[in-house]
Amino acid sequence: MGNVIGVLALQGDFREHKKALQALGVEAVEVRRPEHLKGLKGLIVPGGESTTIGKLAREYGLEEAVRKRVEEGSLALFGTCAGAIWLSKEVLGYPDQPRLGVLDVAVERNAFGRQVESFEEDIPVRGLESPFHAVFIRAPLFARLGEEVEVLAEYAGRPVFVQEGRVLAASFHPELTPDLRLHRRFVELAQEI
Ligand code: GLN
Repeated sequence: MGNVIGVLALQGDFREHKKALQALGVEAVEVRRPEHLKGLKGLIVPGGESTTIGKLAREYGLEEAVRKRVEEGSLALFGTCAGAIWLSKEVLGYPDQPRLGVLDVAVERNAFGRQVESFEEDIPVRGLESPFHAVFIRAPLFARLGEEVEVLAEYAGRPVFVQEGRVLAASFHPELTPDLRLHRRFVELAQEI
């Protein structure tokens, strides 16, 4: 697959996303400054700690730069776990948490209970022929969805993978399994730009 995709590399498991992209034959670049966005059509925001990612992104001018590119329609985004939280319009219980706010959802952090820190489950995903092995680690939940937001996968009747335009967000970690189908879907989405 052609194309160059960026991975926000401020904190979290960005190396795993890079490896997944490279396994698809896609060039992956680490994004730490606004100038690194130049020429990119897609950006992956990894899992990690959403407050830290949000604070650093604001400090380095990336929040503003990424928002501008998404709003002008020249950048596709894929947020996983903490990355999905950063994309969201609203973070329940944390009104001041720095975030991008381009995905019309309200997220609940650590929504599956702290006692169940992590779990794995095979879940059906819209458009995939067989289930996807989803790894959830202190995962968020999409608690409210705007009208334009499509649900691509659910776990226990709750949305865990959603799409709005060229923005994808997953509660789980597709970069932690060898299955490349969701990364491929994102690369294709970015190529449409
Ligand atoms: N619970 C973390 C947060 O709210 C996200 C966890 C993860 O990315 N694995 O930032």
